Order: sequence, then C-alpha cells, then structure tokens
Amino acid sequence: MSAACPQCSAPDQSVAVPHALDPAAQPPLDEQTRALLAPPPPPQPAPHRMGGAAICFYSLAGVFALLAVFALTRPRVDDPTSYGTAYALGYFIGPFLLPALFAGIAAIIHAVSKGRHGRRAAESLPQQQAFWQRNHAVWQAAWLCRRCRVAFFPDGVLRKDFAASPPIPLDQFPLWVVTAAERAYGAAAPVAP
Ligand SMILES: [Zn+2]
Repeated sequence: MSAACPQCSAPDQSVAVPHALDPAAQPPLDEQTRALLAPPPPPQPAPHRMGGAAICFYSLAGVFALLAVFALTRPRVDDPTSYGTAYALGYFIGPFLLPALFAGIAAIIHAVSKGRHGRRAAESLPQQQAFWQRNHAVWQAAWLCRRCRVAFFPDGVLRKDFAASPPIPLDQFPLWVVTAAERAYGAAAPVAP
C-alpha cells in the first residue's frame, strides 16, 4: 500500500510510521525524528511516595532519638550501673522507647499506604493498558512523508468514515495520536480486556 502525502500530493516518499522507524529502513531517520515518531510508551505504575503522616512520625523518631543520645552522653557524676542491672537497662534503653514507638508507627503507616497504592495501581492497570492499546493502534496507522517531514493518516485508515488528516508537523504527532484515538474510539474509558 502507498499513500499520497496531503502536503506534496505524491506517494513516492510516503512510508508507514512503523516501517519508517525500522532500523533497516533507508535512508535512516535522524534521532530527533525517531523520538517524535516513537510509539506511545506502555503504561507504567506510578511510584509510591511516602505520605506526610509517615514522614512526620519518622521525623519525630529521629528528633527523639537525637535527644536520647544527647541525654545519655551528658556527663554525670555517678555511675548508672552502680544502681543495679534493672536501673542501668532502664537508663540506657528507656530514652529510645519513644523514638522506637514513633518509628514503628511510621513503618506501619508506610506499609499500609504502600499496600493500598499497589492495589489501586493493579486495579487501574488494565484500563491504562486498554488506553495504550488503542493509542498504539492509531500510531500504527500513521504515515510519514520523508520529503515534507510531516505525518498523516490516509483516508479511512482510522475508521471508514474518517477522511484523510491534514499534514501533521512532527512535533505535534504524539498529541495527534492521543487525540485521534479519542475521536476514533470515543473519549470514554475503554473496556479493559
Ligand atoms: Zn509530502
């Protein structure tokens, strides 16, 4: 199949975008053109960030741990071990109980939030995947005119009732793919496979 470029009206320099990106294609495309014509990236789950409450408790744990170290390193006249093992244990370990409690609370909050984030990401992934598949299908239908350095969608290639697109400047191509997918398939979320 060949398609006439909407800018120069000739089909001789037209090539389907996936073929144009083939490393064996001649002449090879420059890096900037390759980047602009690249297929839509597959969906990636958003990284989980630590929430404000966990950060707050970790900070409190840090502050109280520092205070504990400060208190224990203060010079004192008597020797705490001289009052017995129980006193010495309480003296050395007691100041760290509060920081340990805060650190434990922070760890629990963080773990709960991370689990919730993971479940939400797993739930939304099939739908993101469906969006990506239809964007990818639109991308596969695009053509490039090497002479004019424009992309275009030939008549009826996206949908039978869709006329040919105007010439698309390459820097607008990624946005065009998303917009054309919405027009061709509807803006509503696709049904996950
Ligand atoms: Zn052309």
